[in-house]
Amino acid sequence: MKAAVVKETSPGERRVALVPDAIAKLRPAGIDVLVETGAGDGAWLADSVYADAGASIVSAAEIYRTADVILTVTRPSAAAISELREGQAVIGMLAPLVDPELAATLAARGVTAISLDGLPRTLSRAQAMDALSSQSNVAGYKAALVAAGEFGRFFPLLITAAGTARPAKVLVLGAGVAGLQAIGTARRLGAVVSGYDVRPAAKSEVESLGATFVELTSVSSAAGEGGYARELTAGERQAQQEELSGHIARHDVVITTAQVPGRRPPLLVTEDTVKAMAPGSVIVDMGASALGGNVTGSHPGQTVVTGNGVTIVGADNLPATMPTAASNAYSRNISALLLHLTRDGALAIDTSDEIQAGVVIAHDGKIVHEAVASLVPQPTQGGSGVDGPSD
Ligand code: NAD
Repeated sequence: MKAAVVKETSPGERRVALVPDAIAKLRPAGIDVLVETGAGDGAWLADSVYADAGASIVSAAEIYRTADVILTVTRPSAAAISELREGQAVIGMLAPLVDPELAATLAARGVTAISLDGLPRTLSRAQAMDALSSQSNVAGYKAALVAAGEFGRFFPLLITAAGTARPAKVLVLGAGVAGLQAIGTARRLGAVVSGYDVRPAAKSEVESLGATFVELTSVSSAAGEGGYARELTAGERQAQQEELSGHIARHDVVITTAQVPGRRPPLLVTEDTVKAMAPGSVIVDMGASALGGNVTGSHPGQTVVTGNGVTIVGADNLPATMPTAASNAYSRNISALLLHLTRDGALAIDTSDEIQAGVVIAHDGKIVHEAVASLVPQPTQGGSGVDGPSD
């Protein structure tokens, strides 16, 4: 089986799906690796390093002509999709719940679409494949560094001949994978750190990192299914925003990471709250998105300074800003998934397997993932190549 690594095409994307180390680990399973010329350049992985590790360096045209499986980080470009052949497979973070049209297009072309973001993450045998966690981990680390970079004072307590600097007070809102890494990193930089989450289970995790857990009296547990948070009601949301406001105003730096699967990120920091913060404060919004983020006034990829001197950084694909660390981790995740899917040197699609049921989105000309199929408009007559949701 030929598995091919393509050069990522999204603006600013510097990650690569496989690093050279992976090549020797895939070969015993009958997997030969093709690498598009320059695929690793953004992560400082030269073609020659891939070639030395046993990969064939080829053109994109040869990949689309000969590869059985195409490995990507994010969704393939429209141009790449038009090159895909029936029977080829694409494995990457395809975000099918956000972009179900991509799944429908791939299904219609007879391409098998496999997305790491559908992985059942709590399954212990799936943990080596958990790209959402590995990339959130990188993003949380970088968010703390971005915050420190924007902040005009030190994070640690410093006692020098020129005076004493008090440590920065950092608050991290949302204590999932990214939030916990942001807490750990800010602590390692010497800040005094607090964390908050709507899931009560987060309390012990925040405290185990040496941070203080902020408890709100106005919002009780909002633990949802599968370890995720549920969406708050409008009343809970308002109460949360109001109670958080006082905590936020007492901090120098706020990093927000709150997400609810399949929903737009919850708004935690309102305009009034930003106005209550002291000049020189910094907010890094990891939830920033085109639909809105955790912070009023944040935009992905933009840094704005408000009239009262608060810097708001809208994070945008932080893992791509640490391409080597992010690619190393992603490469291990996608290799583990590829090996899981491979039998006798070929992909063996079997959605009765719990892992495959989560990640296989399209196969044999149909969308086979029920949740994704339910998001795709159904034709009035048959023949679209899209399976409808089951009755
Ligand atoms: P996520 O990216 O979906 O969300 C980030 C955090 O935001 C979550 O902790 C969530 O509770 C929090 N949040 C949502 N709405 C909020 C609100 N209104 N106010 C404050 N916080 C809010 O989460 P994630 O990082 O993907 O992790 C989700 C869960 O999955 C966690 O419990 C994590 O420990 C768990 N997980 C388990 C495994 C495993 O078992 N191997 C692997 C990965 C993640």
